[in-house]
Amino acid sequence: MKVLVLNCGSSSIKYQLLDMEKESAIAKGLVERIGMEGSKLSQMSNWEKHVIEQPINEHVIGIQLILEALTDKDIGVIATIDEIKAVGHRTTHGGEKFSGSSLITEEVIDALVELSELAPLHNPPQIKGIRAIQKVLPDVPNVGTFDTAFHNNMPPEAYMYAIPYEYYERYGIRRYGFHGMSHQYVSTRAAEMLGKDIKDLKIITCHLGNGASLAAVKNGVSIDTSMGFTPLPGLVMGTRCGDIDPAIIFYLGKKEHIDCMDLDSVLNKKSGALGLSGISSDFRDLEIASEEGNERAKMTLDIFHYRIKGYIGKYAAAMNGVDAIVFTAGIGENSQFTRSECMKGLDFLGVELDEEKNKTRGEEKIISTDASKVKVMVIPTNEELVIARETLRIVG
Ligand code: AMP
Repeated sequence: MKVLVLNCGSSSIKYQLLDMEKESAIAKGLVERIGMEGSKLSQMSNWEKHVIEQPINEHVIGIQLILEALTDKDIGVIATIDEIKAVGHRTTHGGEKFSGSSLITEEVIDALVELSELAPLHNPPQIKGIRAIQKVLPDVPNVGTFDTAFHNNMPPEAYMYAIPYEYYERYGIRRYGFHGMSHQYVSTRAAEMLGKDIKDLKIITCHLGNGASLAAVKNGVSIDTSMGFTPLPGLVMGTRCGDIDPAIIFYLGKKEHIDCMDLDSVLNKKSGALGLSGISSDFRDLEIASEEGNERAKMTLDIFHYRIKGYIGKYAAAMNGVDAIVFTAGIGENSQFTRSECMKGLDFLGVELDEEKNKTRGEEKIISTDASKVKVMVIPTNEELVIARETLRIVG
């Protein structure tokens, strides 16, 4: 059975076609610059990269192009679109309504529209993508898998903010958390690699990419995570500030005469590693600059690592211990330096990194010593596989 997985952004559609008998992707691609000059589709299929450049004015045209590319006699991987039995969508914000994946019905779309206020950059283009595929493949079921769902069982002490309770009741202001599919995938995989039941494990998962978050996964359930009501708080990210004193916002607004919306953009797009270093939001550039002696790049990396360690300490306390710490996503999978810095001084927890084993990139590996009480692991994430599995589970 083939499942198409879509991740729709405002001007892009990432996609994968998975063969669920083998649980592997048979084609991966990206439609980009929708509604702009230079729009194109790039597809990896049959071990080659193919690029189709053509005007793509709206999402529905992008979806049509994806289906043409998947069924093309030269670059395609399936004979007809009838082979696609279900479509899984990455859906960002499920609020408190969705504690799991859901078959997409008109009521679910209405709920997604309502929840758009909480994820204005993500939910609306995802709804567009759902509408587009419904037009092109009207008889194929669609399933939404929410970034927030894996964190839906956090206890109130982890998700409530200490502001007047009526704001929670009136507006649903609470921690939701994100990157749920990634935390779910790597924690499940960690248990498999350790040959243990996830229900017996305390795992801290570190999703360190352009967006970054940690989660405390106790007995298979996320009991806390570093992102919050939005994906802005927590760690230092590429361009997002992570945790700051909220009073800074009012102070800055007054001093710089900038309104809320402009401040939102400063904290989301001009802060984090980019704002601190003044060099780049890309951690590869910062590692190079730091090695070359740039003090601000070094300070940025120090803050990034210090905050990760802070959350590891918090989550180890929340779970009364930790059995495994997992690194994933762009930085977590590739940066030997970040993993090494984050694990320094955690011997009191029973963490002993093996620096030789840590010389690894993008592959599943246990990188702690054999004697280490806490297993430190690198596990490449696979959010698409989680979406495809959930889709299959829902459509039966
Ligand atoms: P992601 O959002 O998961 O695609 O991760 C993207 C980020 O991974 C980029 O911004 C880079 O900063 C980071 N990255 C990728 N490769 C490396 C590497 N070898 N060393 C450090 N950071 C890396």
